Amino acid sequence: MNTQNLTILGSTGSIGASTLDVVSRHPDRFRIFALAGHSQTEKLAAQCLAHRPRYAVTADAARAEELRGLLRLSGCQTEVLHGNQALSDVATAPETDGVMAAIVGAAGLMPTLAAAAAGKTVYLANKETLVVAGSLFMETACTAGARVLPVDSEHNAIFQVLPAGFSGSLKDAGIESIILTASGGPFLDTPREQFAAITPAQAVKHPNWNMGRKISVDSATMMNKGLELIEAHWLFNCPPDKLEAVIHPQSVIHSMVRYADGSVLAQLGSPDMRTPIAYCLGLPERIESGAARLDFATLSDLTFRVPDFERFPCLRLAYRAMHEGGSAPCILNAANETAVAAFLDGRIRFTDIAAAVEYCLDKIPARAAESVAMLLETDREVRTLAERWTNKHRQAA
Ligand code: NAD
Ligand code: MG
Repeated sequence: MNTQNLTILGSTGSIGASTLDVVSRHPDRFRIFALAGHSQTEKLAAQCLAHRPRYAVTADAARAEELRGLLRLSGCQTEVLHGNQALSDVATAPETDGVMAAIVGAAGLMPTLAAAAAGKTVYLANKETLVVAGSLFMETACTAGARVLPVDSEHNAIFQVLPAGFSGSLKDAGIESIILTASGGPFLDTPREQFAAITPAQAVKHPNWNMGRKISVDSATMMNKGLELIEAHWLFNCPPDKLEAVIHPQSVIHSMVRYADGSVLAQLGSPDMRTPIAYCLGLPERIESGAARLDFATLSDLTFRVPDFERFPCLRLAYRAMHEGGSAPCILNAANETAVAAFLDGRIRFTDIAAAVEYCLDKIPARAAESVAMLLETDREVRTLAERWTNKHRQAA
């Protein structure tokens, strides 16, 4: 068996830690070439000591110096780099075979795109890459012959139940639609009049999944499902009218594919990201992930509901952006990232997140997504506009 050299972008986050957990179970299969974390220097140092990568990357020079100090004390030889260029450098280095793209937000776009352009195997957790630049990213990966494997649990489930050798044509594969399941988040049954008073602490407490703060808020507003519909649109070349979303509060069925003969194929499992991570890393083999096994003797009912767009306006806005196309999903994403950060800071209310996103979608016209430079410029413009909106609607502390 060939050992795979991995670069993990966002190693200090939730997906990064789950990836390292899976990797630790298979020392014969994987070697860590580079780890990249933004600001949790001590956590990154501990990861370096455990996995002895050739490189570690931090956000800036001060954190790099701090990390060097910590590593020197323990006699660790890892070389420390910093900044955005270093992220792309380690992701495209000739020694890197596969890149786990697990940075949160549009900040993950450039190194993930660089990995695709260099023809690496891209393990894609960073859904924002596809939301912001789906068409350009998929084209780049295709031209460079890069394999893009979906880590997001829904997309991983779909990937697992697509026919072998799926070419990107739903029609040829006899597929009627792709069905994404959604947990509905912590506020599925909360009375609507209480939404404005929801606190960050309540919003990040997901009933089934243990995730980073930004994606936890996205799950609570259901923007996460909206971003995932756009992600599925690009990954599986699936038109918006062939994408369904259904609420399934238990998060046991991770998503489904509906075929022309009436069959629906689903992938089931415990809500543990180590399963889709192990699936991607092990392909074509199935490898141990450490996830708890589903126990059908104790499993509760599996239930389903139709999503309510009034309760979850972010889902409606994501559909709108997907239909508008071009730079609209980039506008949606930048406004959402800015508003979620302001909400987590206690500056705006939970219900303001959707309001800020809608304001930006109304204010900035969508244009053709011609280049990454144009999308990055749009991203900056929207963040400024959204920041201004959040300042205007600032809550008294
Ligand atoms: P997290 O907040 O736990 O971790 C984010 C990681 O990104 C950290 O390592 C952080 O240091 C790094 N980072 C943050 N900002 C950065 C920047 N500006 N530059 C460089 N690095 C930066 O997030 P997470 O929950 O692990 O999610 C990571 C990505 O995976 C997100 O795109 C999320 O949507 C996706 N995802 C997560 C889950 C999950 O269960 N956590 C599931 C599916 C998809
Ligand atoms: Mg998901």
